[in-house]
Amino acid sequence: MEIIPLRAFADNYVWTLRDAKRAAVVDPGDAAPVLEYLEREQLELVAILNTHHHADHVGGNAGLLDRWKVPVFGPDDDRIREVSHRMKDGSRCTVPHFGIEFEVSEIPGHTRSHIAFHGAGLLFSGDTLFAAGCGRLFEGTPGQMHESLSRLMRLPDDTRVYCGHEYTVSNVRFARAVEPDNAALRELEGRAKQQRAQDQPTLPSTIGQEKATNPFVRVRESAVIAAANRYAGKTLNDPVSVLGAIREWKNSF
Ligand SMILES: [Zn+2]
Repeated sequence: MEIIPLRAFADNYVWTLRDAKRAAVVDPGDAAPVLEYLEREQLELVAILNTHHHADHVGGNAGLLDRWKVPVFGPDDDRIREVSHRMKDGSRCTVPHFGIEFEVSEIPGHTRSHIAFHGAGLLFSGDTLFAAGCGRLFEGTPGQMHESLSRLMRLPDDTRVYCGHEYTVSNVRFARAVEPDNAALRELEGRAKQQRAQDQPTLPSTIGQEKATNPFVRVRESAVIAAANRYAGKTLNDPVSVLGAIREWKNSF
C-alpha cells in the first residue's frame, strides 16, 4: 500500500491510500483531482474518510459517491450529510480491501466534532495537528485543543502524521519566532524550504518531529512559556493559557 498526496485548492491534501487496484481517500474537499487520479491510475474507490465538516475537506464526497457507492467514515455530525458510518471516540473502522483498521479519537478544538484516524503507524490529523502548528480554534477552546494535541502526542513517536494542509513553511516561521534557539526547528526549516522549492510535500511529519518542533505541543517547555509570557505581558502558569496565548499570537503573526 502507498499513500499519495493529491492536491486540492491552494494547499489542501487529499491523502489517498492505494494499492494496484483500489484506493481510499481522506478528506476529499474537491472530487475533481481525485476522479482524475483514479481514472488515470485505473483505481476503484473503496472508502472515504472525513476528519471534520469543513467544505475543503468534504466538498468532494458527493461527486465521488455519484461514481462509487462506498462507505463514508466521519464524525457524528449531521453537517456532513454523506457520512454513512458515524464515528465516536474509540470507534474502529476497517478500510475495505486494505486490511487496515483505524481507531478514531475525538479531538475537538478546530471544530467541535473533529476526529482523527490512527492505526498501522499512521495518523490522519485533519486540521487539528499540522507540522509545527495547529488549527485555528473555530469551535473550541484552548483547553480542548491542548487535550486533543496531548492525546495525539501519546501515539508512538514514529507514527507518520498526515495533515490536511501544506502549512509547514509558514508554521515554522512562526515557531522560530517562539523558539529561536530550537535546533530541530532550524533543521526543519531548511528541509521544508528545500522540499517546497522542489514542489515536494513536507508531509508526512511524525509524532517525534512534532514533539521536537511544534510550539503548540511544547507548551511545557521553558522557552515556549517565556515567549508566551512576553506576548501576553504577564506570567502564564499553565499549559492551556500558554497554548491560548501563542494561538492568539499566531492569528496576528
Ligand atoms: Zn478545517
